[in-house]
Parts: sequence; structure tokens; C-alpha cells
Amino acid sequence: MTSPPTTDTACAGAAWRAARAVLPSGHLDAAGCNVPADRTLDAVINHLHLERERGGYPAEPDLTGARATLAALTGAAPGDVAFAESGTAAMAALLGGWRLPPGSRVGHLRAEYGSTLMLLRRLAADRSWTLVELPADADGRADLDGLRERLSAGLSLVTVPHIASHHGVVQPAAAIGALCRAAGVPLVLDACQSFGHVDVTGAGATAYVGTSRKWLAGPRGVGFLIVPGLTPAMDAPFPALHGHADGVPLPGAVRYEGAEAAMAARLGLGEAVREHLALGPAAVHAHLADLGRTTRRTLDGAGGWRVREPLDEPSALVTLRPPPGDSAADARARAARAGLLVSVAPAARAPLALTEPVLRVSPPPGTPPETLAALARVLSER
Ligand SMILES: *Cc1c(COP(=O)(O)O)cnc(C)c1O
Repeated sequence: MTSPPTTDTACAGAAWRAARAVLPSGHLDAAGCNVPADRTLDAVINHLHLERERGGYPAEPDLTGARATLAALTGAAPGDVAFAESGTAAMAALLGGWRLPPGSRVGHLRAEYGSTLMLLRRLAADRSWTLVELPADADGRADLDGLRERLSAGLSLVTVPHIASHHGVVQPAAAIGALCRAAGVPLVLDACQSFGHVDVTGAGATAYVGTSRKWLAGPRGVGFLIVPGLTPAMDAPFPALHGHADGVPLPGAVRYEGAEAAMAARLGLGEAVREHLALGPAAVHAHLADLGRTTRRTLDGAGGWRVREPLDEPSALVTLRPPPGDSAADARARAARAGLLVSVAPAARAPLALTEPVLRVSPPPGTPPETLAALARVLSER
């Protein structure tokens, strides 16, 4: 406890980079698809070899370790974890199978993720639920007093994107979780952008939705649920042999899984999370918060581009609004020519919050200041 926090956080970034033999120097899209560590790749590739040598079924891996590492992200139990092929698929399994009675009121934020909003609208139309937009401030951050009022007026379920795709605001998940628990209302925390990025423990959610390839830096093609608050009203939308017997769900979150899956990718995710836990989540989170602040201070005002979230927001997901005459798509193309990978968040990512595409910059741990300075030059030169 003697070294100053800045040293620890810089160390976490250096250690993260040291775990990768190849890390494209201009990669600034951790929120889109991050760079896996060597051991993560090895876990995937080794299992593919094993499947070929032994046969896919005889090589069936024991995923208990992977489930335990994922569960540790929220303090849940291994049996609370279900794998899916993406965050979207995990959310669809969770909400699609939730037997809320007709007339149920489901609360969501303006910042809600595009595919979750489409899903909620479809389910609301089919099952006679009502969607209730929860109050938020000008930054899109949940208004806790407003939430308390809506909860006491009656909600059946609340969904919250801990960090959304289109801005770097970190929702006050612990306070939201406490209010929901006090009101006896289940909370679904979409942590696709927050696992591996900010602290997710302490939210006390009923269910968490995650994805592998973003801040956890696992392989593509894997998502997951962590469901510590499973109730009999919660089942998969359709029974499957792996998770059900005679149509009745098996105990635990396995009810959300099918039998057939990319086992190598699931093992790879387990390895990625193991690495994250070994690096020290607190140090990684603090490092990413520092990196986000540095990124915003470096880019805000460059060529007239403006950072959209508060400059000191403790996340490394940074979004920018173009000046007149420039656009996110054009800036991304210029960045690509300069060897920098950034992304564009189209309005469909958050239909209630965005009217125009925004530029999204999300540096992986250990990104050097020179890379951010190079992007600032790209934004200024057009
Ligand atoms: C990426 C993302 C998802 C969906 O995850 P996929 O694995 O892409 O399906 C959900 N919510 C948020 C906030 C995301 O950023």
C-alpha cells in the first residue's frame, strides 16, 4: 500500500500489453473488439486441435473453471453463469423467457442499447407490457430520485446499460441496484461495456448480461449471463435438451444454454477473465479511468471536435461530436489512413438518445499518449 496509485495503474497497463505479442499500435477500439492476450489465443487454438485429435465430443471441455471466473466478476456462483453467442443473444434469452404477466411495466433509460430496445418493444407488443422511460439528467445519467418515484409507482422490471455503446457515462449501478432491491423489483444490468472496464461488483443485480470481445478481451462469438437472482418465472424462451428435462428447466442458469456451441471460444473467454482477475481488476479499472481522462483532455477541442461525456467520467469509452463540415465517418476514414482504428456509433445504437452518428474512441490498457496525440492531429487536419 506504499506505491502511489498512478504507478499501480500504469503497471496494469504495461502488464496488459506485455501479455500480447502482437498489439496493433493504433488500436483504439476496445469497446468494439479488443485485442486478446496470447494465452487466450492459445486456449482457443489448443482446444480446436484437441477437438480434431480426439473428436469434438470426447474433447468436451469442463467449463466449471470458466464459469467460476465469470461468476467472480460479480461475486456470484458458477451455477449462475450461462454462455450464449453474444451479448444480444444473452439478453434475448433472458428477457424473452421472463414470464412477466400482461400489464407489467418495464423501466429503461433513454441510453438503452438499440437491440435491447427493439427486443423490449417487440416483447411489450406481444405480451402487453408497458415500457416506461426512467428519468435521467442531460448526460443521460439515471436520476435516482426519479427512479425511486417510478419504482414506488410500480415497475415489474428495470433494465440499465451500465455503460452504453454511444457514450462513456458510467451509470450509478450500486445505487440503482439498492433502490431496486429495496422496492423488490428485479434489475437487469447490461454490463457488456463494463465487465473488465469498471467495477461491476456491488450492483446486486438480479441478472447481468456480458460479452467476451470488448473490455474482457476474450474471443469473438461469446456472450454470457450471470443470474444470481434466478426465480421460477425466469426460463429460456424455448426449452433445449442441454438445459431442460421433459421441458422443465434444470436448476441454475444452464437452462439458458443450448448444447451446441463454440467450446474453444468459451474456454478462451475463461482464460481472458482469468488474466483480468490476475492483473487485478481494481488496478485495471483505475488505469482505464486515467486513460479515459487523458484521452478526453487530448481530444476535446481538436479541430473543433467536442467530447460528449464529462471529461472526468471514470471510463475509457470516449465519444466525440463533429464540428460543422466534418463527420464521424470521415474522421474514421482519415484515422484509418493514419493507422488508427476508431469506430462510429450510429444513431441506431441508442435510438432514444442519438440523432447523429458519433465518433467513439476506446483505448485498450497501456495505450501511449503518442497514439492519442496522433488521433488529435487527424481530427484537426481535414
Ligand atoms: C455490445 C453491446 C451489447 C451487445 O453485445 P453483442 O455481443 O455485440 O451482442 C449490448 N449492450 C451494450 C451496451 C453493448 O455495448
